[in-house]
Amino acid sequence: MSELAYPYEAPASQALFDRAAAVTPGGVNSPVRAFRAVGGTPRFMVSGTGPYLTDADGREYVDLVCSWGPMILGHAHPEVIAAVQEAVARGTSFGTPAEGEVALAEEMVARVAPLEEVRLVSSGTEATMSAIRLARGFTQRAKVIKFAGCYHGHVDSLLAAAGSGVATFALPDTPGVTGAQAGDTIVLPYNDLDAVHAAFAAHPGEIACVITEASPGNMGVVPPLPGFNQGLKDACAANGALFISDEVMTGFRTSKAGWYGVEGVVPDLMTFGKVMGGGFPAAAFGGRADVMAHLAPAGPVYQAGTLSGNPVATAAGLAQLRLLDDAAYEKVNAVSAQIQSLVTEALSKEGVAHTLQTASNMFSVFFTDRPVRNYEDAKAQESFRFTAFFHSLLANGVYLPPSSFESWFVSTAHDERAVQRIADALPAAARAAAEATA
Ligand SMILES: *Cc1c(COP(=O)(O)O)cnc(C)c1O
Repeated sequence: MSELAYPYEAPASQALFDRAAAVTPGGVNSPVRAFRAVGGTPRFMVSGTGPYLTDADGREYVDLVCSWGPMILGHAHPEVIAAVQEAVARGTSFGTPAEGEVALAEEMVARVAPLEEVRLVSSGTEATMSAIRLARGFTQRAKVIKFAGCYHGHVDSLLAAAGSGVATFALPDTPGVTGAQAGDTIVLPYNDLDAVHAAFAAHPGEIACVITEASPGNMGVVPPLPGFNQGLKDACAANGALFISDEVMTGFRTSKAGWYGVEGVVPDLMTFGKVMGGGFPAAAFGGRADVMAHLAPAGPVYQAGTLSGNPVATAAGLAQLRLLDDAAYEKVNAVSAQIQSLVTEALSKEGVAHTLQTASNMFSVFFTDRPVRNYEDAKAQESFRFTAFFHSLLANGVYLPPSSFESWFVSTAHDERAVQRIADALPAAARAAAEATA
């Protein structure tokens, strides 16, 4: 990269990154944070308030990542912070059941009709891993169908053709995952029901479940074609397999009842994380009561967690969910639509080929003029234009996900001032994208 690509410096972040690199692989605790897809110095943030993040160099950014989705009320929402402070003062972990986890489960079950029972865990990865184990235990079958470009956390058996960080790094495979672990995973192209029917036909009585992102956001935003999710559900039902809808990203983000609330397709099992934790490590899986009854201690499928249902995390999640009423979603959807128009307008003005795709208030821009229906389509974009676009916005105080394979996220806190700052930064970024060369 030439110096021109980064027309600014971030010395305090760079110093922290150097320190981090000495004690942590690659200097980060989750790969995409390292900026490898776009180059440059990852920003070390010191505080967040509303729609803004402030980095170690004292520079403020309008945040379009929102911690990869969770911060749907913006950073440091006063009511969430108050609930956390109140919970912390009563103790941070008991290792016993406590009322907060019941209240959070009740709130989730009340919002999402197919969710009859939930089990709380601490990360989305844990949720999908446990849901897969439960599906295998329940059906007494081994094989799992997943879709290329869908990310379900770093579960061994699900790291084949995953999107997100794996897409960013274009890892040809995943060292450390054995043939046995990957061998029961069938990876199919997204939005291709024929491939699903063919897989069921090729493996009669062997497929435990189909897992899919409810509406994928980890290869950029690639919504399901009309009828796709229902087709998955029907194929599972016809073949004695379970349909698992991974709503870790979409859950309580795309509507009050997540993607289920948008589309209405009833899964057997669902997984949640991100928004439901209010910025803390809380996640969940759940669904049909007769399936969940197979989980220990009610049933034989083992699953556990020292910090599962943690009182501080559940207090944060519950406070956030209770604030997410219809008006809140209207607000997030409206500001998302506003930013979408600004982005399209700026890129069109500079003649940059692009396709903006949405799933409710989630959206992302692909630098291609073709619709993106699956991972192959997503990989065909001109990612070098994104790199130029990203760095121009960063230099002008707008923080995008540092990869062209990620959804952008907004919050109820993105007000007119924040939107104006994005509008002000977009023309130069669109120009940079137009002028970029591979
Ligand atoms: C983020 C994500 C996960 C993994 O959640 P973690 O909390 O990062 O482990 C799983 N599935 C989907 C769809 C996600 O977006």
